[in-house]
Amino acid sequence: MPRPLALYETWERRVRPFEPLDASRPVGLYTCGPTVYDYQHIGNYRTFLFEDVLKRVLRWNGHDVNHVMNVTDVGHLVSDADEGEDKMEKGARRTGKTAWEVAAYYTEAFLADTKRLNLLPPTVLCRATDHVAEQIAFVAEIERNGFAYLTSDGVYFDTAKLDDYGYLARLDVAGLEAGHRVDLGEKRHATDFALWKFSPAGEVRQMEWDSPWGRGFPGWHIECSAMAQKYLGDYFDIHCGGEDHIPVHHTNEIAQTEGRLASRRDLPRERRRLANFWMHGYFLLANDAKMAKSAGGFLRLATLDERGVDPIAYRYLCLTAHYRSQLNFSWEALDAASTGLDRMRQGFHALPEGRAAPDAASIERFGDEINDDLNLPRALALAWEVLRGDLAPEVKRATLARFDDVFGLGLALWTPKAVEAPADVRALAEARLAARRSKAWAEADRLRAALHAAWWEMEDRADGFALRPRTEKPA
Ligand code: AMP
Ligand code: ZN
Repeated sequence: MPRPLALYETWERRVRPFEPLDASRPVGLYTCGPTVYDYQHIGNYRTFLFEDVLKRVLRWNGHDVNHVMNVTDVGHLVSDADEGEDKMEKGARRTGKTAWEVAAYYTEAFLADTKRLNLLPPTVLCRATDHVAEQIAFVAEIERNGFAYLTSDGVYFDTAKLDDYGYLARLDVAGLEAGHRVDLGEKRHATDFALWKFSPAGEVRQMEWDSPWGRGFPGWHIECSAMAQKYLGDYFDIHCGGEDHIPVHHTNEIAQTEGRLASRRDLPRERRRLANFWMHGYFLLANDAKMAKSAGGFLRLATLDERGVDPIAYRYLCLTAHYRSQLNFSWEALDAASTGLDRMRQGFHALPEGRAAPDAASIERFGDEINDDLNLPRALALAWEVLRGDLAPEVKRATLARFDDVFGLGLALWTPKAVEAPADVRALAEARLAARRSKAWAEADRLRAALHAAWWEMEDRADGFALRPRTEKPA
């Protein structure tokens, strides 16, 4: 019996068996998308890659997935405490473009990157600015239920109205409260957050809308709750993001949803928490600190291009670490991943295509690994075992192709670049051909060894020879 899918779930802090809420419908998956005021860094892509693998594992288990991803193009302020500038307006100032142009430009850049990383496109990609009416309606319901209050700069959520505010993050609410008593301003509690912000007086914002409370723009958290509800319903299967979303963004998404559904006494409490599974990808670190856009000098896919590193090598690197452990980035680790990927591609490519079915025992073991809370490092190790093992070559190929539905490395699509042998290598080959024709076998062998040492392989042909870079059984 294959192992059923089980996933680590942040609310309960344990690995739970995964069952879709409604077996007759696709699994509902919401993943927090990019804030498009700048390029995404490879840390962001670690989270998107984890979510992509999750989606592929759901498919492996026979589930269709209805995947919704948002694009944050308004309302994400520089500080998580609802203060400071909107990141979009800051991006506009930095680039000399309008906030709308900034959003369009970085959304395109993001989408181009996702293609290069083999990320499966979401079913729905939704922009916050296209859903302002839904966000206003959501805030109005929260207000009607008595969970919101007005200040001179916006509409705030009153977190004290919930007895379990912050449970997702196991927040010490009382401690936070004590620490912030002096600088609360008009906020009633330290953990209260903006649902709607007014445009600053006397300032024309590039992105602003009318609302029942005044002209302004939505708070950052409301967009995800509102769009998730619109496309996936009041309660859906899985909600994901990076680990930084646990204490603020997802905590507040849950609070808002509880506030909106508070009048629905027919719903059990857990059905007011937006999603059945809350899942989080752990950080990519740079020099032991979180890689962040604000830190400057962050690494992008374009930075990998400059170094001649294939983006899929970064995908491979991410597969080597479990999504629930932080990964410290280093160029050495990325180079090692490039080498591993290269060998896997070459090894796969050397296997003949045929009609063979995948090896059932390996497929079952693979399913056990990925269903054990997405243990991709072990699944990858199993792929190497298959490649080096003694299954029939056609069976190996079929098995690895099936594994790759989850890895997403695109093994079957890859073709080796035709490589021209350098002049010294050609000279060795010519010399060897001459030695062979004059039956100087010892000399011919010596020259073959020299070619081998230069990492080339020579195939004897009736009319001469062919040269290709050495592919070997991966070490
Ligand atoms: P943002 O564009 O800042 O809204 O972030 C997009 C996604 O990347 C979110 O799910 C974040 O939690 C995630 N993220 C941000 N920084 C990192 C990092 N250093 N490593 C992994 N994920 C990250
Ligand atoms: Zn979100």
